[in-house]
Amino acid sequence: MTLHPDEAQLVERAILGRIGGKAVRAIARDWCDLGVTGTRGGRPNAQTVTQIMTAPRVCGYRANRGELLLVPETRQPVLGQWEPIVPPEQWHAVCATFSPGSLYLHRGTGAPRLAGKKKTAPRHLATGFLRCGAERRDGGACRGALCAQKGRSKQSPYVYTCRSCGRCSISGPLADEALERLLFSEPQSGMMSSEAERQHWRSGGMRLEEKHRIIASALVCCIVRPGVKGAHSWDHSRVEPMWRCAGGAVPGETPV
Ligand SMILES: [Zn+2]
Repeated sequence: MTLHPDEAQLVERAILGRIGGKAVRAIARDWCDLGVTGTRGGRPNAQTVTQIMTAPRVCGYRANRGELLLVPETRQPVLGQWEPIVPPEQWHAVCATFSPGSLYLHRGTGAPRLAGKKKTAPRHLATGFLRCGAERRDGGACRGALCAQKGRSKQSPYVYTCRSCGRCSISGPLADEALERLLFSEPQSGMMSSEAERQHWRSGGMRLEEKHRIIASALVCCIVRPGVKGAHSWDHSRVEPMWRCAGGAVPGETPV
């Protein structure tokens, strides 16, 4: 019910590292080096680390036999009585780094299958931070995660597309550029107020993992408005930030 401070910190760091592209095996090695053992004395491995990071309980959600428990009336996840380690956005983001077959929610209680490292490590700036702004048929907001896919044009070699409804897509370079602009121009972004950090980012020497850590500390996520068919100019305002300091609850989602 209450968090073990050291363990919670380890799990949070592992999740942020994974979102930033760290290999699960490297996280397991870190834990071994720190002398972490399971309740029965076992050494952490890629499988156990994956199970811990992708378990819904890390963000306060309850699950049973691989199914998230939902409140029947609202279809919102049922929250447990325990303290969450990360916000739901980050749990979704870490789950999105594994192929669907290995997701906790799809695999049930059986052994997880680990996806290949190459395929799963995010390679793009906005991966894990974009949520769908399309309307569902019932009028509610979709809020599905947008995932990077190969694009078809020179200007957009990759695009972020909603996995849930498929009705919201945005050019990869456009979304990454919009996100970067937000971090550099908005006073709310907080972390980027450090001049040294700005310069490091701009110098091109900053690793994606480090950038993701900065984004995660400033933003809950960005809501992407569906584009207008046939519009050829880039509209940066389609990417709307949900700043962490502004309260940070995603509209249509129960704050934890
Ligand atoms: Zn959607």
